[in-house]
Amino acid sequence: MITNVLTIDVEDWYHGLVPIAKWRECEDRIVDSTRRILDIVDEAGARSTFFILGDVADLHPELVQEIAARGHEVATHGYHHELVYRLTPEAFEQDVARSLASLRAAVTAPVVAYRAPFFSIVRVTLGTRCAGIVGVALRFQRLPRAQLSLRHSQRAP
Ligand SMILES: [Zn+2]
Repeated sequence: MITNVLTIDVEDWYHGLVPIAKWRECEDRIVDSTRRILDIVDEAGARSTFFILGDVADLHPELVQEIAARGHEVATHGYHHELVYRLTPEAFEQDVARSLASLRAAVTAPVVAYRAPFFSIVRVTLGTRCAGIVGVALRFQRLPRAQLSLRHSQRAP
């Protein structure tokens, strides 16, 4: 028997492309596109983990509630969708904590998984400051099943 795993990142087109200071000037498309994906996943009878940005949760807590109400797992994708290897461990900790606060304000279901934006926790940097970042990530994931999205062969630019 084959087990398939479906995960979806909930971020708008501008997250990671446009400077944060300009985000509120960008057209917001996340609600309609996420609802289309929810319909497709529901139609297939599947369940998914939705890695949601804290920024999206603050703007659309009702969308986070809908994802949970439709039977999917709510997880965090950080707050600002920044490359983890460019953050200090302290900045990373603040980003994850803020995202968790936003998600937990929207839903009561436990948030137990984190996916780094752009899969930006990379093995090549683990011996340097990223070791602290991974430590922070694992501490946040005082979780029964930690899901750190690592791409082992990727190199930080
Ligand atoms: Zn992303």
